[in-house]
Amino acid sequence: DYAGVPGRVRVAVRLRTRNAEEMVADADFGDCVELLPELKRLKLRKNNWDAETYEFDEVLTEFASQKRVYQAVAKPVVESVLDGYNGTVMAYGQTGTGKTYTLGPLGEEDPATRGIMVRAMEDILAGVSLDTDSVTVSYLQLYMETIQDLLDPTNDNISIAEDPKTGDVSLPGATLVEIRDQHSFVELLKLGEAHRFAANTKLNTESSRSHAILMVHVKRSVEGRDVAHSGEIGNNSHMVKTLKPPIVRKAKLVVVDLAGSERIDKSVYMVLNSSHIEVRLQFVGSEGHTLEEAKSINLSLSALGKCINSLAEGSAYVPVRDSKLTRLLRDSFGGTARTSLVITIGPSPRHRGETASTILFGQRAM
Ligand code: ADP
Ligand code: MG
Repeated sequence: DYAGVPGRVRVAVRLRTRNAEEMVADADFGDCVELLPELKRLKLRKNNWDAETYEFDEVLTEFASQKRVYQAVAKPVVESVLDGYNGTVMAYGQTGTGKTYTLGPLGEEDPATRGIMVRAMEDILAGVSLDTDSVTVSYLQLYMETIQDLLDPTNDNISIAEDPKTGDVSLPGATLVEIRDQHSFVELLKLGEAHRFAANTKLNTESSRSHAILMVHVKRSVEGRDVAHSGEIGNNSHMVKTLKPPIVRKAKLVVVDLAGSERIDKSVYMVLNSSHIEVRLQFVGSEGHTLEEAKSINLSLSALGKCINSLAEGSAYVPVRDSKLTRLLRDSFGGTARTSLVITIGPSPRHRGETASTILFGQRAM
């Protein structure tokens, strides 16, 4: 089972239904993908008579519930974190395909819609005992190679520190909030979202152009629980207990809502080839901004791709240094860490190219 195979990336694909626009605009065209969930296969159509078949660890149809998605994608990682291993859950895909829907919903109106972040925290809080253990959270946005604190908007350039001995990554300047109940976690996510929206408005950008990163640190005191269980050690278990130093087990869960994987330069290209001069002029006005964003997203996503490729190939060298995203994740994938990637896709033939490239990214991780 995956949970017993550290170092390998587990990859699930999730398909969303057609949205209202696609239902109307693409009404005459069939879907470009077909799922065979029992076989864990996906077929990507090339045309009406030919399709390519791909295999994944999990194939989640448009009917898969949020609970099912959590269980398939995140639960094994959360369980490892409770056991003391770092873990990462990431969502990758074109904007509008369901990354945030998979990770983010708070489920306040309808609990069935709760996403991975909220469900993960529920399992973590249920798995620790807060009298001896602690759960702390940071929430960040990574935009144009700059890390911003979503829990403190004044904190807009956080640096990454690496322990040269252990390789542990930390963010010395980031706000850390202790979580004692689910309600305060949900409130914290809301605050973070509000700060994210305000920051992106100020920067004149969209959330799809940045990565949102939730870090959950779980510190557990193993002594007093596990040791007390093993009362058979000698006949003076009290003695054993007082002599044994307390064992503190630390692990972190990182949940990453990645920037949209669509190629921004494609739309740039299309606009440049457009005969509509007004569109061109409008574009030139914001060119610098968009192109810089495109380059930055491309840098971090391709660095991430290279890292998960080398994990998949079992290579000893994982090129984490190429971007802030991968430097940040350095101790959360590879080694003993558990990594789970969910790629999100839509069915519309219009986006076949983007869907194909998302599938390829997922395949390379396996
Ligand atoms: P992304 O974060 O990848 O840009 P979103 O999560 O914002 O995409 O999804 C785009 C829209 O599609 C949202 O309105 C979202 O609620 C809806 N959506 C996405 N996936 C699903 C799904 N599996 N079931 C129902 N609605 C979905
Ligand atoms: Mg999103």
